Amino acid sequence: MTKAINPRSRKVRILATLGPASNTPEMIAALFEAGADAFRINMSHGDQESKIPVIAAIRGLEKRFGRPTTILADLQGPKLRVGRFAGGRVMLETGATFVLDRDTAPGDATRVELPHREIFAAIEPGARLLLDDGKLVLRVVEHDADRIVTTVEVGGALSDSKGLNVPDVVVPMAALTVKDRSDLAFACEQGVDWIALSFVQRPEDLAEARRLIGGKAALLAKIEKPAAIERLEEIVEMCDGVMVARGDLGVELPPQSVPPLQKRIVEVSRRMGRPVVVATQMLESMIKSPSPTRAEVSDVATAIYDGADAIMLSAESAAGDWPIESVAMMNAIGEAVERDPMHGERVHFTETRPDPTTADALAEAAKSIARTVSAKAVICFTTSGSTARRIARERTPVPLLVLTPKMETARRLGLLWGAHAVHTRDVESFEEMVAKSKRMALRHRIAAAGDSVVVMAGVPFRTPGSTNVLHVVRLIGDELKGHDG
Ligand code: PGA
Ligand code: MN
Repeated sequence: MTKAINPRSRKVRILATLGPASNTPEMIAALFEAGADAFRINMSHGDQESKIPVIAAIRGLEKRFGRPTTILADLQGPKLRVGRFAGGRVMLETGATFVLDRDTAPGDATRVELPHREIFAAIEPGARLLLDDGKLVLRVVEHDADRIVTTVEVGGALSDSKGLNVPDVVVPMAALTVKDRSDLAFACEQGVDWIALSFVQRPEDLAEARRLIGGKAALLAKIEKPAAIERLEEIVEMCDGVMVARGDLGVELPPQSVPPLQKRIVEVSRRMGRPVVVATQMLESMIKSPSPTRAEVSDVATAIYDGADAIMLSAESAAGDWPIESVAMMNAIGEAVERDPMHGERVHFTETRPDPTTADALAEAAKSIARTVSAKAVICFTTSGSTARRIARERTPVPLLVLTPKMETARRLGLLWGAHAVHTRDVESFEEMVAKSKRMALRHRIAAAGDSVVVMAGVPFRTPGSTNVLHVVRLIGDELKGHDG
């Protein structure tokens, strides 16, 4: 079950989106080696069938690298998208006329299908249609029930299934489309670890998804609608993880309102102990270029200094020319920022006051003890992963080794700040807990003979939710030669 493996050399996690540029087993392994901790499968592109070998390839890494893998299936949500083009893409010239219609035939430079009946009814002359994260702008000239005639105000390249935002009119949207329900069932059946819900507007949207998931995966809320910002705390409370989905957020709202919102969403998520992912355009220029702009590097660094759990690559790893280099770049930025002594101080600008629970009290104490006795790591035994989340919430500077008998838990923890999860047999006694902590600390190279580690567990053992033991273990050479358990 367990194999020696070095923990990542950084705490922040890298979530890499897979797509045509990276869907093969070889590329997935290369991204993993370059530093991808978790993979996003975008249900907006491709059919369900095409995801099956991708999921198998990700899971195949577990044997090869001796580390759990993490898969997030991202549901399209009620995202408005254009249809497909003959040849996959077209150029829209500024000033040209472009028609959106209900004809499913592949589009060209004069027209494309818009597979959303609601818009034809809701749209108004003069309204803007923003395409591909707002890169292209169309202005509505006239419309009827089957056609919207527009003028291209800002032209550019447009390819299959690109997103469409209609900020000037309210389009009534349901939280989960028919496609989402089908994709959700498929993702659960495939055993993915996380399901991301797009365009969440209300806490009720999450309740519905939660019910359909039925505990088979963790639920991540993508914050990309102004309405979600209005009820942010309630939404964060209702989910297991959060994404600052800056692409759509920055189209629905002016782009300059995104940085303050990013800081607020990260802070609220951290305070509530939910892993938070900062996403979209992080290394955008690396879609075409082997090196990023300085501004992009700075943006990634800012998310890390803010203490986000994970940073995400979208087209950079899914459809760009430099997927491996993009992951390697994020990895390098993560290492450099976390080497900065100021990083430790800055991530604690967010105050995470413990809830009045034993687990939280112990997690806070673990951090303080680790500092006082210069422990090399915190080790936690957990079934559900909840103890690991409490410890990670403290942003403890030493490595966090999570030992869990549940593979699902180990996999889900791939989005959690600094957690190195190991799937291993549970312990049944205090002595076993101590012995195993020592062995695992050595095997995973987070501590050496003579070092101390802080161990957290629950007694009675094998009882979820019983975290109540905090023990400082000193690693002494001789006792460490036993067998694995
Ligand atoms: P998307 O979500 O890539 O599925 O649109 C992320 C975002 O909007 O930023
Ligand atoms: Mn989005």
